[in-house]
Amino acid sequence: MHQKLRRRIVAPILLLVLFIVVSMWLYVGRSGCDMVCVRQGIVISGVIAAGLAFLLAHLLSQRLNRPLQDLIALANQIRDGQRYNHIIAGQSDEMGQLVHAFNQMAEQLDARLTTLTQEQQLLALVLNQMGDGLLFADSSGKITLINPAAARILNTQEALIIGRSVAEAVRHHELIDLWHRCRQTGQEQSMAVEVGTDLFLQAVITPFKDDDASGYLLILQDLTHIRHLQTIRRDFISNISHELRTPLASLRAVVETLRDGALDDPPAAARFLERAELEVDTLTQMVEELLELSRIESGQVPLKLARTAVPDLFFDPMERLQPQAARSEIELVLNLPSGLPLVLADAARVQQVIANLLHNAIKFSSSGDFITVGAELVDGETAVRFSVEDHGIGITAADLPRIFERFYKSDRARTRSRGGTGLGLAIARHIVQAHNGRIWAISKEGKGSTFYFTLPVA
Ligand code: ADP
Repeated sequence: MHQKLRRRIVAPILLLVLFIVVSMWLYVGRSGCDMVCVRQGIVISGVIAAGLAFLLAHLLSQRLNRPLQDLIALANQIRDGQRYNHIIAGQSDEMGQLVHAFNQMAEQLDARLTTLTQEQQLLALVLNQMGDGLLFADSSGKITLINPAAARILNTQEALIIGRSVAEAVRHHELIDLWHRCRQTGQEQSMAVEVGTDLFLQAVITPFKDDDASGYLLILQDLTHIRHLQTIRRDFISNISHELRTPLASLRAVVETLRDGALDDPPAAARFLERAELEVDTLTQMVEELLELSRIESGQVPLKLARTAVPDLFFDPMERLQPQAARSEIELVLNLPSGLPLVLADAARVQQVIANLLHNAIKFSSSGDFITVGAELVDGETAVRFSVEDHGIGITAADLPRIFERFYKSDRARTRSRGGTGLGLAIARHIVQAHNGRIWAISKEGKGSTFYFTLPVA
């Protein structure tokens, strides 16, 4: 027992003993005290000493009891995860020191709990925000944790997966094989997997083992977008080769025909030269459009944005394309409401968009048709919507979502005779998007198409 506490208990006992001895001595020391008197002395001193001992014990237990009860209450608060209150240590004795130590322990516990909670929140944030799917499985293969990205990739809900086996969670034979391989070898395994028709994943399964836990970590990276980009690039190269091959083959045929004797027939030679010129024009246009597209895509041509009147954007392309429309006996109609606000635009670029749309409208219309171009205020007067409406061959529902892709030409047989590189709309889309606008089309096969794009009001 500690020195101080011992002193505190021993001192009253010694006092009591002293009291008994002194009172006995006084009582018995009187003259004429016989045996009866001695016995009486012992009894009286004993009774008084017992009373005093009881009083002392009561006071002492009171003194010890209160801080003890406080300690019990504090321990209960900590156990229940409540915020705790400091106990006031009123004494400087052992009990005071115990209270002080307990307060310190509670404080440290609280600080550790706060750090742990913060770390947990940070981890949850990372898991929730990360684009890659992540699953933890314990050593028996039961899923213990799954993040929202993994639930999205596996097309399930987090709550349904916890506690299930990896095979039940991933539901894909190649992923299940990968998982079995990882279990058997105890080595990290990875592979690229195609799930369904539109999901391309890179899956990595890593076993882990430390003092506290062991299990498996599954990472699912959604590479669909990258794969899509790769496909676009591959298609782009194959498209460009295809588009170059036709005019080049035609040029070669012309040259061979001329060399094989057509040169000696001046009218035929002139016809062939005309055809060669046409093919060279097509090639030149394609190269120019490709250069333009790559310049726009790489952001090499910064927009020269200025407050521009809407009619100014129409006049130049309409004037340029009027002769072509007239040749095909197509009427161009401009339908502009008065009082349109100025728009924020790079005029030359937007004129190019309108020219591309108008050029297509003429190309895909028949003689006698008319084309209406116009603009109106939309989106709560924050944007102007431009439109080019024709009554030509229209676009099929299957082609419509793809016409803004590079080199896309709907139904090649139908459109071949009309020429074109399939780049015009891709360029238009880039220009409009660089203006923070949108471009889209509605169309009905055989009835005609309307192309729209918006520009923000200045
Ligand atoms: P192109 O130089 O071939 O016209 P675009 O990118 O301008 O290339 O157009 C892509 C394809 O979209 C065209 O080949 C055509 O099939 C379709 N298209 C575009 N505009 C129209 C239209 N007004 N009417 C019908 N089809 C159109």
